[in-house]
Amino acid sequence: MKHFPKVKVISAFCAVLMLSALMAGCASAPVKVEPKGMVYFNYFDTVSYVYCYINDSAEQFESCSADVAVILEEYHQLFDIYNEYTGINNLCTLNKNAGGEALKVDEKLIDFLLYARELHNRTDGHMNVMMGSVLRLWHDCREAAAEDRENASVPDIKALEDAAKHTSIELLEIDEENCTVRISDPHASIDVGALGKGYAIERAADFLSAEGKLGYVLNVGGNIRIIGTKPDGSGWVTGIKNPKDPSTIAVNITIADTSCVTSGSYERFFIADGKKYHHIIDPDTLFPAEYFDSVTVITPDSGVADCLSTALFCMSYEEGLKLLESFGAEALWILPDGEKLYSPGMEQLVNKA
Ligand code: ADP
Ligand code: MG
Repeated sequence: MKHFPKVKVISAFCAVLMLSALMAGCASAPVKVEPKGMVYFNYFDTVSYVYCYINDSAEQFESCSADVAVILEEYHQLFDIYNEYTGINNLCTLNKNAGGEALKVDEKLIDFLLYARELHNRTDGHMNVMMGSVLRLWHDCREAAAEDRENASVPDIKALEDAAKHTSIELLEIDEENCTVRISDPHASIDVGALGKGYAIERAADFLSAEGKLGYVLNVGGNIRIIGTKPDGSGWVTGIKNPKDPSTIAVNITIADTSCVTSGSYERFFIADGKKYHHIIDPDTLFPAEYFDSVTVITPDSGVADCLSTALFCMSYEEGLKLLESFGAEALWILPDGEKLYSPGMEQLVNKA
């Protein structure tokens, strides 16, 4: 059964695109495609958009978009660490049950956790979904700061160090055969903020590709996944925000059939004693990573892009370049002084002014 979430059709969505038919031997009769858009407000604590740039009718688009929403909703529920839902064991259930028995979970959650573990290993633990205990301390301080800015404070270092003793990936026990998961340490917990959105978008992209919907764009909280190209074969101009003033664009790139994910210090933060503390925590220092203001990753798999943007944010440029190469991905790093560093293939994507 389809669930109908809080949605809005983007009515004034862009002007009509006039596209030339570029097929061989074809006179350049323009093909008129009216881009369509839908926005959802209930997934992953952010805003999600579905855009269609192919000639689907309004009905086809709405049905397709509703199918995407069903996928996002399913993963939103599975990955939620704050709420449980009737009839499923999600990450909240697993965290509550830490130190207890193994729990039966949906096969989709098994697949995701295996993927998360593999990415933990490939990033040498810089992206670690078992950092829940540490992340919770930062989350609580951020929430407290939102309530009472004057008295904002950072977590106690001793509390962080104690929490860090419960973050080993080994504490996540996945039994594929019996479809069960157990967190073996009562003080450990899962947090998939670094990876969940990208992974869910990629599953929606799988669906759209299988339906032949080349010419759709998904944007979940700034994590962008482009399926195919524009009908004329070109890519989309995508703006990468200026971290010092996120209402402005630092760089425009043109991309198609890939993902673009940014991790930035400007996304979620609080101020204590005049210093800014953002939400991406370096596992080595247990404090917000200070190498960059933002890191943007371009690679087809949106889950990998999401993972890498967080992992690269927590390591030096040199280490990051090596890691990127092992994935065949591209990146743009923006340093606190505004300097931009590009991986070799990234520069080619940049629109020259
Ligand atoms: P966003 O979700 O804002 O787009 P990220 O993808 O970089 O940004 O994910 C940040 C979130 O990931 C944090 O809110 C936190 O839940 C989690 N997180 C922070 N640091 C790490 C880390 N080193 N490894 C794994 N997860 C992290
Ligand atoms: Mg990420």
